[in-house]
Amino acid sequence: MDFELSAEQRLLRDTMRDFVDEQIRPVAQEWEASGRYPDEIVATMAELGLFGMTVPEEYGGMAADMVSLAIVFEEISRGWMGVAGIIGSHSLSCWMIARFGTEEQKQAYLPALATGARRTGIALTEPGAGSDLQGIATTARRDGDLYVINGRKTWITNARHADPLPVLVKTSPAAQPAHAGMSVLLVEAGTPGFEVVRDLPKLGYRGPETCEVVLDDVRVPASALLGGTEGRGLQQVLAALETGRINVAARAVGVAQEAYDQALRYSGQREAFGQPISGFQAVQLKLADMAMKLQAARLMTYWAAARADAGQRTDLESGMAKVYASEVALECSVSAMQVHGGYGYSREFTVERLYRDAPLMVIGEGTNDILRTVIARALTSGRGTIG
Ligand SMILES: Cc1cc2nc3c(=O)[nH]c(=O)nc-3n(C[C@H](O)[C@H](O)[C@H](O)COP(=O)(O)OP(=O)(O)OC[C@H]3O[C@@H](n4cnc5c(N)ncnc54)[C@H](O)[C@@H]3O)c2cc1C
Repeated sequence: MDFELSAEQRLLRDTMRDFVDEQIRPVAQEWEASGRYPDEIVATMAELGLFGMTVPEEYGGMAADMVSLAIVFEEISRGWMGVAGIIGSHSLSCWMIARFGTEEQKQAYLPALATGARRTGIALTEPGAGSDLQGIATTARRDGDLYVINGRKTWITNARHADPLPVLVKTSPAAQPAHAGMSVLLVEAGTPGFEVVRDLPKLGYRGPETCEVVLDDVRVPASALLGGTEGRGLQQVLAALETGRINVAARAVGVAQEAYDQALRYSGQREAFGQPISGFQAVQLKLADMAMKLQAARLMTYWAAARADAGQRTDLESGMAKVYASEVALECSVSAMQVHGGYGYSREFTVERLYRDAPLMVIGEGTNDILRTVIARALTSGRGTIG
């Protein structure tokens, strides 16, 4: 068993650390507080090829392995988790188009998505259905060579930048089971009837926009059907979400690492009762717990990523990594705040932002309770084993 990163992965990690230190850390606090969109950071991410991480080389992408992908998300999230969101659902949808798209779709979109000239996201959630994706109400009716889409999607990250935006719809609303009538349609920006109606006000995860989207008689060509065959949509998005969970787990590891780093540094500087607070056993216990759990979360995330790289299904592994790492991030963000005392509650200190960013990882890409049911199903069916 080898716990070392390869030479290429170490180089990638060092490159990402330099990028984060030089361009993200200096502005994160101010831009996050003001809600400023990080255009300059996005431009550098494009130059670094990060928009093409999940795009195959023949379409101009980096075709990064999943461990490398995890490293990128972890390092960016140490600086500002919201920025990782800009390439999060983008990478997930690029993976989905590369894996399931027709040759025509891949050629039409992947080269521009790989450079960041075009960007994307994923539209699954609706006001009335999130975890229960088979309960969505958005429909796409076939009309000659077109589909006519009607519905409303919410919580859609990158919605104002996505072109195309893959939208989960029901092409056969009466189908039983429901997933047999579900499909993904690639909706291009500017298509009449497609409107981003509002930006949702969020606790954290500032940087990328997260929006409500209305689709009112949106007409797209039949060639917009992902993969060209109806009824595969739920399967396609669930497979993509497995890779998405690795990126969310890695983001959580990044937030937990930053919380730990901030707590360690502050505890060495802050004095109380005539000594640095790092000398108090209560503070030491927090630091030790944070370090142990954070490292376990990182190893679990790399393990899930390595299993995906080995070409295996990873619903069990990516689910475990996402649940565990997100809960560690939440715990570390609270512990770091406690170590900072009153200053941890101030917007002038990074830990306040970490505390607002951490809960998203518990919710996104499948809530932790839903994923616990997925993990349990894999274990009890014998499809997944531990030990
Ligand atoms: C900042 C942010 C960004 C997001 N970005 C995107 C995006 O880009 N694209 C997108 O499509 N979605 C996005 N989402 C939506 C996100 O994926 C959903 O919020 C999530 O899947 C949960 O769905 P829901 O909010 O409808 O909650 P619900 O499904 O209503 O769940 C509410 C609660 O009930 C529990 N629950 C529901 N069913 C069960 C069950 N069977 N067993 C046990 N417990 C259950 C859940 O665990 C949860 O605790 C985003 C959300 C946020 C907050």
